[in-house]
Amino acid sequence: MVGHVPIGGGNPIVVQSMTDTDTADIEKTTDQVKLLADAGSEIVRITVNNDHAAKAVPEIAKRLADLGCNVLLVGDFHFIGHRLLRDHPECTESLAKFRINPGNVGRGKRHDENFTAFIEIARDLGKPVRIGVNAGSLDQELLVQKMDENSRRANPMSGDDVEREALVESAIASASAAVDVGLAETSMIISCKVSRLGQMVEAYKTLSSLTNIPLHLGLTEAGMGQKGIVATTAALSVLLYGGIGDTIRSSLTPEVGGDRSKEVTLCQDILQALGIRTFRPSVTACPGCGRTTSTLFRELASDIQKQIDINLPDWKHRYPGSESLKVAVMGCVVNGPGESRAADIGISLPGSGESPRAPVFVDGERDRLLSGPTIAEEFIGMVNEYVDH
Ligand code: SF4
Repeated sequence: MVGHVPIGGGNPIVVQSMTDTDTADIEKTTDQVKLLADAGSEIVRITVNNDHAAKAVPEIAKRLADLGCNVLLVGDFHFIGHRLLRDHPECTESLAKFRINPGNVGRGKRHDENFTAFIEIARDLGKPVRIGVNAGSLDQELLVQKMDENSRRANPMSGDDVEREALVESAIASASAAVDVGLAETSMIISCKVSRLGQMVEAYKTLSSLTNIPLHLGLTEAGMGQKGIVATTAALSVLLYGGIGDTIRSSLTPEVGGDRSKEVTLCQDILQALGIRTFRPSVTACPGCGRTTSTLFRELASDIQKQIDINLPDWKHRYPGSESLKVAVMGCVVNGPGESRAADIGISLPGSGESPRAPVFVDGERDRLLSGPTIAEEFIGMVNEYVDH
């Protein structure tokens, strides 16, 4: 459990995100956490990198509660997390989970002492911990040791494979060390984030074969724009479709001044496309072709999407389950009737050169024929009626 949210064990896959504000800036961080939570992030991670940030956390939590936002906050700790947890008990109380990166809590004996001190505090407070390994901050002693071993092999592995083995080993060894300190496996989550897709997928496949501890998936530093979206979708989909992963985050780089909540909607869209969770009504629309020289069907599909986006908060409030509504807006009668019948409500518009008559299907049955210049408005009215009904 992370606060009131169960993770793993067949529970719904949880969507997470992370702020990019200076946590010591209480106002900006509160605003961004609220933005991400409103977009549907069920857990939001904030960096706790120094005393100023740690002192700000309780006030951020209070302001969120005052705003009626009960999203779960996770503290992201690196380097001195053990000391910050020890020195700021009000901060620890405000956080539902702690993240530790075993690659940067010191070396040798100091690593073991710092790691143990961190886990002991989590254990005593009953807080779950994510052991978050990252290729960019992998335990260098372990990596050098694995490289040495590899160089003595008759058939050495590639550098990427050695690094992947080291990532997995670091995560599994850290989880085992945490168990030795007294933290239950049921209070842990593991992640192994890498920016290279194939390496990331293979690392998680190996992890899932080695442990039952819930896994947090992420393609780290996925990048900007379409590249980041495609890479994240590809990586997460391969794993999720194979039944691997209990919580996800997309690490998109937003444009300057861009909307950070896109990383939340991307995670939701991936889960929805895979049929794993449902967050919003789906609109099935064909791409159009030479049979649709009129723009009517594209305009209608766009209008329907806008109407859904505007009305959804109200629909969800009034009609629980309305997020699973399926609408079809098809360009002509080639595939139109079939897709429209498969939806809750669908329309098969006339293609170019055909008479302006459009059959509408409701719950799989042909309901009526719309015609004339008001087809779009009438169909939108029918969708609203369907939801009300
Ligand atoms: Fe073209 Fe009709 Fe197929 Fe749409 S449904 S792509 S308009 S043939």
